[in-house]
Amino acid sequence: MTRPPPLSSADLTSLDERLGLLLVLRAGLVAAVIAIALGTPGELAGRPSPVIGASLGYLAVAVAGELASRLRPSTRVALHRFLLPVDVLWLAWVLVPAGGAVRPTVLLLAVELAGVTLLASVRSGIRVALWESAVLLAARLRWLASRLAAARPTDSARASTDIARASTAETTLAVAGLWALVACVGWFSMVSERELRRSKRELAALTSMAAELEAHPSDAEILESLLGALQDAFAVDQVVAVWDDEEQVEVSARPGRGTRATSALLDESATRAGPFQSGWRDEITDELWSSRDPIVLRAASGGTVASLLPEAREMVVLPLGPDGGHRGLVAVAVPDRRLSRRTLAALRQFSSLATLSLRNARLLVERERLAMLDGLTGLANRRSLDRTLTAEVERARRSGEPLSLVVVDIDHFKQVNDVRGHQGGDEVLRVVGRLLAGSVRASDTAARYGGEEFALVLPSCGVGGAMRVAESARSAVSGCAELGGLTLSAGVAVLGPGAADAASLVAAADGALYRSKREGRNRVTVAAPVEEPPPVEERPPVDEPPSGQGLPAAQEPASEPAPAGARVVDLRVGARESESGAD
Ligand code: GH3
Ligand code: MG
Ligand code: MG
Repeated sequence: MTRPPPLSSADLTSLDERLGLLLVLRAGLVAAVIAIALGTPGELAGRPSPVIGASLGYLAVAVAGELASRLRPSTRVALHRFLLPVDVLWLAWVLVPAGGAVRPTVLLLAVELAGVTLLASVRSGIRVALWESAVLLAARLRWLASRLAAARPTDSARASTDIARASTAETTLAVAGLWALVACVGWFSMVSERELRRSKRELAALTSMAAELEAHPSDAEILESLLGALQDAFAVDQVVAVWDDEEQVEVSARPGRGTRATSALLDESATRAGPFQSGWRDEITDELWSSRDPIVLRAASGGTVASLLPEAREMVVLPLGPDGGHRGLVAVAVPDRRLSRRTLAALRQFSSLATLSLRNARLLVERERLAMLDGLTGLANRRSLDRTLTAEVERARRSGEPLSLVVVDIDHFKQVNDVRGHQGGDEVLRVVGRLLAGSVRASDTAARYGGEEFALVLPSCGVGGAMRVAESARSAVSGCAELGGLTLSAGVAVLGPGAADAASLVAAADGALYRSKREGRNRVTVAAPVEEPPPVEERPPVDEPPSGQGLPAAQEPASEPAPAGARVVDLRVGARESESGAD
């Protein structure tokens, strides 16, 4: 599972964008200085033309620096550091000689300071504030010295002291203002950047979780993905998720000891399967699943949910589901920082995504199950039969165990439709399907082959067992009062020489079925192997007759010789034994 790396400031707003905006700020300051120089020349040092010339020169240096750093990105940070003192020197040169801190133009220093703090970094802002303070103080001292030197001998000492005091107070206020500005702007910028970083981290974790969930993971993998994403997004160290799908309970926890603690709780729980159906259900879980809103719990509050994270002081519990009877929850230990509504809403997004995936996983399993079933009888369908037969042939070849196939066809079914109508015919197919399913073991497969034909796949079953199963199905159908004397014919084939793969096994069983039809229907015929199959271990029959009352022996009818590869065995109740079985 790959996780996104932690975000840096440059990931929030790119360095290119920040430095580009800083260039715009510099151009704005140059424009302001030129406007002041032309409009109110007294506010700046010297005559307008040198000020304008120096300002345009400064701008040319800034643009050249920006272009150079774009051409060679490795020099970007170094050039940015070089330009910061150039900014201050230029501003000091144009503003300070005209009065510095006591002139309104000092605002340009503030604009430069705020811009650098926001666009570069708080550290760069502090650096600029330091230089600007030094420049202001130096300029004030120079101005003060010149004023005092120019004082006439008639001026009283008190007047000089007053000038010095007033000037110091103005400069101190201006410097304090610069520092207050850098502190406020820096603080706001850090708060908004932290929020932006948090949102981006949550979004990255949510996106990464969504990508993992696209691969249709299992329930356990969904819980793992959820826990990983919560840890990445919220830096929580204790989190546990429990999902109860009525048949199985999945538990996932970080750290791993949480899984053990929760599993122990499950073991203690009265209902091992489905704890949320009864044992663990209380007013907290009911509230959780009815409101679908997060609940904040204190570990000390007691109850099963609170005991999921025994080491947490406080926890947020989020719902998973409910989706029908399937339900669960995820408990997250609250980190030390205050739990905001925004965090709760973000946590809810993660549990919603997990809920959606758990529902999709369930629907997918359900869809796959339905795709393998015959809609009318509920037996395995043709697709499922093909898969099962291929897999069982492979398994039998590997293990050397026998494998039998019985193909069944209802006799004169067309007449059933003619007499009972198609709906009546469908009902007959359902009943026959039920009787066939009841004739085999759980490990066998009863399938509807198509129309009124069925197949029984019997792993670990030799020819004798298969004949008994087929006969049991035949007699169950013919003896069923609901079916009013309906009969079926069957063909049995065993994997072996001449029927060594799925297709030839089906062909052999079909040939035997055809023979049953030819011989008068309502009977079971076994396909004779081309050569004798290797001896196989017989499985116990489904309904082993009491000893001494075995199945009637096979009978080869004298009237019509069996085609090559087929042997007719009349297993009808009361049929006369004329040949021993081939088992
Ligand atoms: P046989 O003893 O030789 O097998 O005669 P049959 O009438 O059973 O055989 P045939 O194959 O000629 O006819 C099968 C009939 O089964 C024809 C078809 O209308 C009917 N059938 C096939 N699928 C369905 C189904 O899903 N529902 C219903 N009601 N009838 C079906
Ligand atoms: Mg048929
Ligand atoms: Mg038929």
